[in-house]
Amino acid sequence: MRWVLRSWRLVRPGLDAALVRGTLGRPQGSRAVGSAGASTEFSYVVVGAGSAGCVLAARLTEDPAERVLLLEAGPRDVWAGSKRLSWKIHMPAALVANLCDDRYNWCYHTEPQPGLDGRVLYWPRGRVWGGSSSLNAMVYVRGHADDYDRWQRQGAQGWDYAHCLPYFRKAQAHELGADTYRGGDGPLRVSRGKTNHPLHLAFLEAAQQAGYPFTEDMNGFQQEGFGWMDMTIHEGDGATAHLETGGFIRSQPGVPHPDIQFHFLPSQVIDHGRVPTQQEAYQVHVGTMRGTSVGWLRLKSANPQDHPVIQPNYLSTEADIKDLRLCVKLTREIFAQDALARFRGEELQPGSHVQSDGEIDAFVRAKADSAYHPSCTCKMGQPSDPTAVVDPQTRVLGVDNLRVVDASIMPSVVSGNLNAPTIMIAEKAADIIKGRPALWDKDVPVYRPKTLATQR
Ligand SMILES: Cc1cc2nc3c(=O)[nH]c(=O)nc-3n(C[C@H](O)[C@H](O)[C@H](O)COP(=O)(O)OP(=O)(O)OC[C@H]3O[C@@H](n4cnc5c(N)ncnc54)[C@H](O)[C@@H]3O)c2cc1C
Repeated sequence: MRWVLRSWRLVRPGLDAALVRGTLGRPQGSRAVGSAGASTEFSYVVVGAGSAGCVLAARLTEDPAERVLLLEAGPRDVWAGSKRLSWKIHMPAALVANLCDDRYNWCYHTEPQPGLDGRVLYWPRGRVWGGSSSLNAMVYVRGHADDYDRWQRQGAQGWDYAHCLPYFRKAQAHELGADTYRGGDGPLRVSRGKTNHPLHLAFLEAAQQAGYPFTEDMNGFQQEGFGWMDMTIHEGDGATAHLETGGFIRSQPGVPHPDIQFHFLPSQVIDHGRVPTQQEAYQVHVGTMRGTSVGWLRLKSANPQDHPVIQPNYLSTEADIKDLRLCVKLTREIFAQDALARFRGEELQPGSHVQSDGEIDAFVRAKADSAYHPSCTCKMGQPSDPTAVVDPQTRVLGVDNLRVVDASIMPSVVSGNLNAPTIMIAEKAADIIKGRPALWDKDVPVYRPKTLATQR
């Protein structure tokens, strides 16, 4: 979580502190005393050097008059005592290595989940420079235009798609160059999946055989369909990612835009990679993107070392159970297509014995797991909304000089992974904090299915 505090006094930093500076401090900043006793003054303190915190610190220091203190609880992403980058952070294929230990990872756990047979779920989160973006799967997904228009309706005035898209572009340097949707010269390098792996190719073909469209750019005009995913990887990262193809579909007729997401893997990942794979296999990670179960998170104690109490209330609504049942059925249909025939063996999970709705639901309750995108605990909204924590300028309601800028302020979760939207939030918040006029786009076209009377 990133809190931005305006004008803060640093007494004795117990955390890894990066001083990001323009020139020396501004007169209105509070005086601060460093651990060596030196006086220091900051215009901003950014707490947490994760996806949002790093973007904010970088943008705020574009003005050389600003002096920013960036505090991070975790270590740097280099080998101790050297400038060598840690392979665990900088090699895309190393994702699971970081999920198996706590060097760069808070290793949170949820409360036991009644909707998941009482299981306690593992919630890895980054505790390192770069935050969760340093251990994430590097999939770059923005969500659907309608998600942001919904944010505006939910009270986040000025956060509709027209006002968010320019900040997605501003952050991005896409290898395919700039267009209406893609950015060309931002700091975040993004490339398009392009492997020749036969399983990825077969998966895309199978999805089309099942009647779904191929989409050229799931972050551009058309999210709906299957295609090559964008990734926050650029040449020289050394190793390829596993997640290069995926898709977005509507679960049933009447759903206006995709609510189910697929990540295809030409390999097996069991229990976040903590259990060694047992055989050659392929799998999809499939899930509903607009879950209706609502949870909460709160401090366990006043001790900052204690992990918070995390209660997601997974599968506490009938709608979520039904949606995940659909996920299983729709996935089986794609996997049954001819394109995958030459690779197909027996179904490992759920297994061919799992057929009835009751059996599928039992499988889901026994096996479903987190896909790493918790959000909305400090939702942005109007001051009149009793569930809002920050206003549309990201200011904490009722507290002076304190903002929250990170994945937690989404008014509702977007239809996709959260790293790109979090970076967009920080880009836009930086302009808000600097008092700059908001960027916006006029009339950007968005794909609509020909009919909502059918599911595909
Ligand atoms: C395993 C995993 C895989 C993921 N895969 C993807 C993916 O492929 N694509 C995608 O889009 N998203 C993915 N995500 C989600 C995405 O990475 C996060 O939603 C995003 O990084 C959140 O950004 P943030 O700035 O809100 O928080 P974070 O990036 O988590 O940053 C929070 C930072 O604050 C620090 N911090 C916390 N408390 C304190 C404190 N008291 N003092 C100082 N510092 C503190 C933390 O150590 C951390 O560095 C994944 C997440 C995980 C965990």
